[in-house]
Amino acid sequence: MVFDHLAELARSARRITVLTGAGVSTESGVPDFRSPGSPWLVHKPIGYAEFLSGAEVRAEAWRRKFAMDDIYRDARPNRAHAALARLDGLGRLVAVVTQNIDGLHAAAGLAPSRLVELHGNGTYAHCLTCGQHFELATVRRHLEATGCALDCACGGFIKSATVAFGQTLPTATLQRAVAAAKGCDLFVAVGSSLVVRPAATLPQIAQAHGAVLVILNREATPLDPAADHLFRCDAGDGLLALLDGVAATAG
Ligand code: NAD
Repeated sequence: MVFDHLAELARSARRITVLTGAGVSTESGVPDFRSPGSPWLVHKPIGYAEFLSGAEVRAEAWRRKFAMDDIYRDARPNRAHAALARLDGLGRLVAVVTQNIDGLHAAAGLAPSRLVELHGNGTYAHCLTCGQHFELATVRRHLEATGCALDCACGGFIKSATVAFGQTLPTATLQRAVAAAKGCDLFVAVGSSLVVRPAATLPQIAQAHGAVLVILNREATPLDPAADHLFRCDAGDGLLALLDGVAATAG
């Protein structure tokens, strides 16, 4: 069986870190970024410098954000998210480091202490100046009523709590991700095209610190030649096999 080897690797692992990308959420109905026909290329996220450049650009950024939200508003965690939440219960998970902004790992019940949302979270917004939290519904009501992006009472710009292209990742978040890569003996990258940095640097940081690198993905990635084990598979199938392997020796 294709996954026997993966389950065997999982059985012998003591500390597992998993990097997830958009491919983990496609089964939930959230489109990934690079597959052909992706709506993200129609409602293309606006980069950080451009977002800061003017009020009309900020309004357009919000229009695109809400257009995408409408596409996957009913998305619920799938078996891949559920498998990772259950893996935590078995005591061998260091962390899930995710590139995803859809909030589905948390919705599946993964503890915040185990979850590193590298690119932030698109389920709420915050002021870039004072940090105040805003519900998306508040921002949307204002946009739909006025055609303008809502600004904070402090004068700051309100932005979805994601890391835009060209925006610096919060240092503490990146440090947690790097620590999780260094602190595992099995590193699994799943559903990621492994082209977005710094996320794409984590697999080799893990390997350099002694971890076995497993890549689970439907398509080829630039890191495939470096992987110790490669599985061309659906994220859900691969993560369930991983969970089975760990569960077989848990207790
Ligand atoms: P990507 O779109 O570049 O790559 C996704 C990869 O997953 C592709 O290689 C694809 O072949 C594979 N894939 C798709 N469905 C799969 C499945 N069911 N099983 C296994 N593999 C599957 O995504 P990325 O590498 O995560 O980079 C895109 C960036 O855009 C992310 O860093 C993220 O910030 C953002 N994004 C987030 C979401 C989300 O939150 N769900 C969705 C799209 C984009």
